[in-house]
Amino acid sequence: MTDKDRPSTWVKYDAKFCNSCNASCCTMPVEIQAADLVRLGLATQDEVDTSLKKVAKKLRKAGIISSYRESTDLFMLTQKSNDDCYFLDTHTRRCTVYDKRPNTCRDFPVKVGPRIAYCPFLRR
Ligand code: SF4
Ligand code: SF4
Repeated sequence: MTDKDRPSTWVKYDAKFCNSCNASCCTMPVEIQAADLVRLGLATQDEVDTSLKKVAKKLRKAGIISSYRESTDLFMLTQKSNDDCYFLDTHTRRCTVYDKRPNTCRDFPVKVGPRIAYCPFLRR
């Protein structure tokens, strides 16, 4: 069995796995960029151009992000108490914003992640 916190246990990624997976990767911390926030409709282009700190303050208050790192301009998406991503439907194990999901989610695990081309697939 894979353990999301131990990449050495991960399996070689195959896109076919995602349909039967418990969405383990959506229970890992996800850092996103301002462009993702705009695509998700959580901030306007004007707002991100004006002040990322203000955007962060607003989204933290709304519970959508848990933190913002000024040095990298990255926002951490909130995780629920069971580690699920803020946008993950806990019951269906599907992303509720799939078409607008952040780039990090699009690129995992082929371009980003602690172990490229491997993922913590866990059968649902
Ligand atoms: S852990 Fe792997 S198989 Fe499961 S949803 Fe994520 S990428 Fe797909
Ligand atoms: S935004 Fe969607 S794809 Fe990305 S981690 Fe959250 S639930 Fe998963």
